[in-house]
Amino acid sequence: MRVLETIQQMRSSCEAARQGEKRLGFVPTMGALHEGHLSLVRAAKARCQVVAASIFVNPTQFGPNEDFSKYPRSFERDQKLLEKEGVELLFAPSVEEMYPEGAVTFVTVEGLSERLCGKSRPGHFRGVTTVVSKLFHITQPDLAFFGQKDAAQVAIIRRMVLDLNLGVEIVVCPIVREADGLAMSSRNAYLSQQQRRSALVLSRSLAQVKKLFEQGERCAGKLGAAGRQVFSEEPSVRLDYFQIVNPETLEPVESISAPALVAVAAFVGGTRLIDNIVLAN
Ligand code: AMP
Repeated sequence: MRVLETIQQMRSSCEAARQGEKRLGFVPTMGALHEGHLSLVRAAKARCQVVAASIFVNPTQFGPNEDFSKYPRSFERDQKLLEKEGVELLFAPSVEEMYPEGAVTFVTVEGLSERLCGKSRPGHFRGVTTVVSKLFHITQPDLAFFGQKDAAQVAIIRRMVLDLNLGVEIVVCPIVREADGLAMSSRNAYLSQQQRRSALVLSRSLAQVKKLFEQGERCAGKLGAAGRQVFSEEPSVRLDYFQIVNPETLEPVESISAPALVAVAAFVGGTRLIDNIVLAN
């Protein structure tokens, strides 16, 4: 595996890797890798002849009071994991390399970027779409792999690819969970033992909604209320939102006739966690 730190190196390595009609798969990450990330790499390996990954903790997607500076970083460990999975190219640029002095250009997917996490994290999705479009321009992958864990991110990136004619196929991989149901996240590392137990309320609330849906409930208002009710039994966790939306537009739905995204975000202590399920008839 080659580690590339400059845009120039990454651009030319990807160009060379694609020679001979080889399909290039790309897995963007912020590092502190876990099985969720590795599942994306494995999906990329299964569909592409060459796989590139990136590790970049992107400052423009963090708000001023968020965890950019303390976000977990474990580059050497991550590097070994990616190497073991057969990643050929790893892009690991510095902030200065990615954002030239005085950078003022952003990519915004309007409307969608203000929904779900975009509402409580203003500017977050603008940072995501800006960095992902930069990474796509540098890497020029045929396919790019994202996790369903960040369902709103998936909808927004799909919209961006369509609107800007980026010509990258977006592949979405299922949420990888711990044995007890907690969705894997780099931020789980922040949790104390007790918080780790409390954090199960996210997946528990989604399981409750799924159960009611399977019993025939189709009213989004009732399903949402049942999910929120589960949170009221765990007062140490502060619910940010519990919403049932159209998975493409992220607009709330009233009754569930097509696949619907049930998305939740909550603060466990100072740690903000997200999770979701899709309900389909
Ligand atoms: P991050 O490093 O958190 O920016 O995540 C990088 C990619 O990994 C994103 O596409 C995430 O959606 C995906 N990802 C993170 N956690 C999981 C998980 N538990 N299961 C599947 N994919 C995940």
